[in-house]
Amino acid sequence: MRRAALKFVSGAALICGLSACNGEDVIQNCEVEFIILGTAQDAGSPQIGNNDDPAWKDRFLKSHATSAALVNHQSGARYLFEATPDMREQLYTLDMLAPPKTDVALGISGIFLTHAHIGHYAGLMFLGHESAGTKDLPVYAMPRMAGYLTQNGPWSQLVDFGNISLQPLSASKAAELGGSLSVTPYQVPHRDEFSETVGFEIASSHKAVLFLPDIDSWDEWENYGQTIETRLAEVDYAFLDATFYDDKELPGRDMSAIPHPRLKDSMDRFDKLPKLERDKVRFIHLNHTNPARFENSDISKEIARRGYKLAKAGQRYCLD
Ligand SMILES: [Zn+2]
Ligand SMILES: [Zn+2]
Repeated sequence: MRRAALKFVSGAALICGLSACNGEDVIQNCEVEFIILGTAQDAGSPQIGNNDDPAWKDRFLKSHATSAALVNHQSGARYLFEATPDMREQLYTLDMLAPPKTDVALGISGIFLTHAHIGHYAGLMFLGHESAGTKDLPVYAMPRMAGYLTQNGPWSQLVDFGNISLQPLSASKAAELGGSLSVTPYQVPHRDEFSETVGFEIASSHKAVLFLPDIDSWDEWENYGQTIETRLAEVDYAFLDATFYDDKELPGRDMSAIPHPRLKDSMDRFDKLPKLERDKVRFIHLNHTNPARFENSDISKEIARRGYKLAKAGQRYCLD
């Protein structure tokens, strides 16, 4: 498989004009792109009420909730992965990086949702009557997720008014998007109060990406007939849950009761894999307490020393 041509263009941060866009790579002459639009846990960083967080005073330390876009430059189709509470800024960023070419609502051909936790779907509120008032914007969701949106306000109003058009997804079954693009949801163990939870394998005819921002544990996934190693083998890049770095992160709280694979433990697990596999990993969905969100922290340096990478908003991956 051909390696993605990543070319850094200095000053590209100016294109975005947002903290979400520092240090991105710009790809030229790429037909299909996967663009990272946010890397934080649901509530973003800094988090509400945490007034000591340095990101309140330094916008370059801010991060938006985890989200990404798939762009087919040839057809003009653009798909969002997650509708986050930061969707306004994220769509602006996407418009600057890969301007809309079609006349569909907001230039978005569809939105894929992993699950019903606030960072992953609450941005749908911007599609309704009080904001964009889109018409039939396709929203791809698993059965429980679709049922939740249909049966509970305010989301049900988006369905009733035809702002969104729900597109059913089935576990482990590829949704074909045309132009040789497909998206396959894989169900994962997570805190499933209102919906099931999935990660997505996003494939072009040449490359594939695993987008898996939330999972309770790699071991528990085996009860679903999957292993992270098997899925990793199928893709070129994998954006994986790294909510917490280790168990020291929430002082005074028993973190054994809090799920999510710790970033440190994930590195220990992936250390057993060949370099080719390890190189695919990009950690994402960092809680505001995770020291890895600060580029110059000792933990970030330790992650780099061990040969692992963190996803950054504005990163662009060519899937040609
Ligand atoms: Zn989340
Ligand atoms: Zn979640």
